[in-house]
Amino acid sequence: MTPHPTPTPEHLVIIGNGMAGHRLLEALLERPGRPARITVIGEETVPAYNRILLSPWLAGEMTREALTLRETAWYSDQGIELLLGDRVADIDAGAKRLTTRGGRSLTYDRLVLATGSRPAMPAVEGIGLDGVHGFRDLEDARALTRAATRGGRAVVVGGGLLGLEAAEGLRKQAKATQGREMAVSVLQRADRLMNRQLDATAARLLEDELAARGLSIVTGARLAALEGDARGRVCAVHLEDGRRLAADCVVIAAGITPNAELGQAAGLAVERAIVVDEFLTTSDPAIHALGECCQFRGTTYGLVEPIWRQVEVLADRLSQRQDAALPGYVERPTATKLKVSGVSLFAFGPIEPEDDHEVLTYHDPRQGDYRRLLLRDNRLEGAVLYGDTAAGPWYFEQSLAGHDLSACRQALMFGAGDANALLDDASSPSPATQEAAA
Ligand SMILES: Cc1cc2nc3c(=O)[nH]c(=O)nc-3n(C[C@H](O)[C@H](O)[C@H](O)COP(=O)(O)OP(=O)(O)OC[C@H]3O[C@@H](n4cnc5c(N)ncnc54)[C@H](O)[C@@H]3O)c2cc1C
Repeated sequence: MTPHPTPTPEHLVIIGNGMAGHRLLEALLERPGRPARITVIGEETVPAYNRILLSPWLAGEMTREALTLRETAWYSDQGIELLLGDRVADIDAGAKRLTTRGGRSLTYDRLVLATGSRPAMPAVEGIGLDGVHGFRDLEDARALTRAATRGGRAVVVGGGLLGLEAAEGLRKQAKATQGREMAVSVLQRADRLMNRQLDATAARLLEDELAARGLSIVTGARLAALEGDARGRVCAVHLEDGRRLAADCVVIAAGITPNAELGQAAGLAVERAIVVDEFLTTSDPAIHALGECCQFRGTTYGLVEPIWRQVEVLADRLSQRQDAALPGYVERPTATKLKVSGVSLFAFGPIEPEDDHEVLTYHDPRQGDYRRLLLRDNRLEGAVLYGDTAAGPWYFEQSLAGHDLSACRQALMFGAGDANALLDDASSPSPATQEAAA
């Protein structure tokens, strides 16, 4: 391994002080060979915060302070120049210079784009009305909190992770501040909630639980238009089948669009997002991209786990550890969890079984426990767990490792403890074998 050199005289500029950009800073600070001068430019007016926790914050389950990753003073203490509330408007890749909306002009030796993504807004009439929100940043969460405080009817478009967290957040916030229920409907285009992660049984259990809490779930719902009142505020949602749902507030949680336009205008290769190689380098060797604004071998990102692994690769790369032995970024499956308190689900792998999959299921309706495993050649390829999800991480580990689980088949549905013991027994030599070896 090449020893870490001392800091290089390079000037590194990071665009975006979100989850990826911030974590990259933390990783660089652990590496002595990092660039000596680092500047971060972020459009939001506050330093990076834990975006994931916007959901529990909206639900009134935590304080604003708990979201803060580092105070502003930390950046200057570390010698990092932090420019907030300004947006990079243009990159001149030839001159290695960028300009901001606020009129700043900076040169760089290396540049990192960590510009994330934004809510994908459907192209329907009325999408620009007052009272129509995304759920992406602190401002959105504040606007939703105000809406919940006013009460009335909310419609959330999207029955995936984000939509359900927004819907539960609104309901709980309204209850906490008004002491009564807000009428919240969730519109899901597919025939079940979280259709990319859950099978029909788990989705039904989830729907029943959310309905029992007071959410109204409408599946097979196709958004047609939003209706405004005389003041330009949203007042109803229209579906393609002709239904009209009255609404004082609409949340759009129907996917994300990578913020790739800045990179595209700079001449970088862009498909759905900014194209990078396994070292997070774009088509310009001096410019890198990571997080939700990047695309690696056709994949774009929406969860932090792969982004954390990108950060480690890029931090090594930027710290002059460019020896051939350095591992590049490799795509890996990710597991899904939902952050709605009182609801436990854990899922990974394919949802629809293929012909050569063995399907093992366990369902205890009274306990609300459901498990479905997909195996191929005794190897776990997918799992959907609802209720008791304690074994989820163990299943995921087994799947990533590609372990042959034939030795623990009879205990496989009942968690890690017994199954592990059987696997250990199978892998340790039997007394007869030990004697023979002696
Ligand atoms: C409510 C919510 C809940 C979530 N829950 C989970 C979860 O439970 N698990 C999970 O894995 N993931 C979750 N996610 C997704 C996770 O937050 C993202 O994957 C992660 O934030 C991506 O990091 P990023 O740095 O790429 O983008 P971001 O965190 O969005 O950061 C990008 C930053 O760049 C800034 N920026 C953009 N353009 C410019 C420009 N031109 N100039 C300057 N600054 C710019 C933006 O303002 C933003 O601050 C959740 C997301 C949301 C919104």
